[in-house]
Amino acid sequence: MRVFNTIAETRKFSGQARSEGKSIGFVPTMGALHPGHISLVERARRENELVVVSIFVNPIQFNNTADLEKYPRNLSSDLQLLKAAGCDVVFNPSVSEMYPEKIERHYDFGALATVMEGAFRPGHFDGVAIVVHKLFDIVLPHRAYFGEKDYQQLQIIRALVRQEDLQVNIVPCPISRENDGLARSSRNERLTPEMRNAAPFIYQTLLNAQALATNAESGRIIEYVYQQFANHPLLKLEYFVVANSDDLQPVSGKIKPGSFGFIAVFAGDIRLIDNIKLI
Ligand code: AMP
Repeated sequence: MRVFNTIAETRKFSGQARSEGKSIGFVPTMGALHPGHISLVERARRENELVVVSIFVNPIQFNNTADLEKYPRNLSSDLQLLKAAGCDVVFNPSVSEMYPEKIERHYDFGALATVMEGAFRPGHFDGVAIVVHKLFDIVLPHRAYFGEKDYQQLQIIRALVRQEDLQVNIVPCPISRENDGLARSSRNERLTPEMRNAAPFIYQTLLNAQALATNAESGRIIEYVYQQFANHPLLKLEYFVVANSDDLQPVSGKIKPGSFGFIAVFAGDIRLIDNIKLI
């Protein structure tokens, strides 16, 4: 496995691979890797001749400085996990390599970017789109793998690919969970033991909401979830939304096939997101 820190080396590798007709599978990450990330790498391994993983904590997608500063970083264990998963190239650039000068660009993803994470994390999706666009341009992947845990991000990337006519196939991957149901996330490492014990309540509540969903009105499900969190001593609900899985717009009235529940919860100062297909 090779580790590149520069755009030039990575571009050279990808250009060469492309000219030899080899397929490139790409998994963009911010490191602090866990089995959820590795499931994406393994899928890329099965479907491509070469696998490239990027590790880059992208400062411009953080709307909260403390979250950026405290974001976990474990490069040496990440590299071990990636080697074991059969990754060929790790692209691990510095911030100045990726952004030699201040970058500002605003993408228009319409209503897709104004709901949920877009509403609560201003600028977040511009930061995501800028980095992913740039990474695609460097890695030149045939396929890129994204987790459904960050469902809105997945839909934003699909919109980016359509808008910019990028020649890459976006492959969605299912949410990987701990045994107690908590969606795996690099931020879970930072939960106190007390918060870690409490956090499976999030998925449990989503499962209960799913059980209520057949024949129910979305307002009833939303009310149920807000009630569950209202008296929770540790977890603070930021939002729970019932939305259509394509355009992410809120579903009103009776739940339709393709409706998902999307949730964001604070466990202390750690913000966790999750989602579930309701019917
Ligand atoms: P991150 O390092 O958090 O930016 O995540 C990198 C990629 O891994 C994104 O496409 C995420 O959606 C995906 N990912 C993170 N956690 C999970 C998980 N628990 N299950 C599936 N995919 C995940």
